[in-house]
Amino acid sequence: EATVRAEGLGKTYSEGKLVTPVFSGLDFEVGAGETVAILGASGAGKSTLLHLLGGLDTPSEGEVYVDGHRMSALSDAARGQLRNRALGFVYQFHHLLPEFTALENVMLPVLLGGAAVADAAGRARALLESVGLGPRLEHKPGELSGGERQRAAVARALVNRPACVLGDEPTGNLDERTAASVFELMLELNRAQRTSLVLVTHDRRLARRLDRVMELHEGRLREVPGAEV
Ligand code: ADP
Ligand code: ADP
Repeated sequence: EATVRAEGLGKTYSEGKLVTPVFSGLDFEVGAGETVAILGASGAGKSTLLHLLGGLDTPSEGEVYVDGHRMSALSDAARGQLRNRALGFVYQFHHLLPEFTALENVMLPVLLGGAAVADAAGRARALLESVGLGPRLEHKPGELSGGERQRAAVARALVNRPACVLGDEPTGNLDERTAASVFELMLELNRAQRTSLVLVTHDRRLARRLDRVMELHEGRLREVPGAEV
């Protein structure tokens, strides 16, 4: 039932003589529809963990399973397809393609999944309307506000109805009010689609709103009891 699962996961970066052990032996799983916050000081390894869970980097030890598939057993192409179908990514920076409209940006993951253009346009338009960007479909990222860009990025992450969304400080660049509204939007969509959410954040107030809070500290991942968050 886990959407994303890590087993004995470890990462050590090595560049020549420079060896940086980040964490090891992490066991971690996220159930369908579950929302999990990952807290930790800067440099604790939160982004590294998220990249490993998303198959964007290779672990030094252990395994990651996404939607039941062992990532290390897949070819690069199959891993890319699984990522596109089963995962959504939202970062602090929106990573929308600047030369494409909001609609086109959100259509892309659907097209990559093999859908017809009309289908992709229909789904992207419906989702953009539901995140309040109906009047902005033809705008390019440079013509959107910061909050609108993150809403479009959230729509792009969710348009394929992934099993799990991985968020790396997705509201970290926004003013407090806009951040709160983008965060609420993510929770709303996660509930509506029963998508699970793994959210890296340093904002304990946001973390508290999720089902579970984990903290990455000195290479270990521990569950933080609700009362301590
Ligand atoms: P966080 O997201 O918690 O701030 P990161 O996962 O970015 O932490 O980094 C964890 C540690 O790994 C840090 O010491 C960082 O310097 C190191 N690190 C991150 N990425 C790389 C990389 N590509 N090569 C070498 N070291 C890295
Ligand atoms: P492949 O593994 O076949 O080369 P790609 O690297 O093109 O596939 O990526 C497949 C999917 O993963 C695409 O939906 C792409 O947007 C997504 N993806 C690739 N790299 C990243 C990244 N750094 N951050 C977020 N999504 C990524």
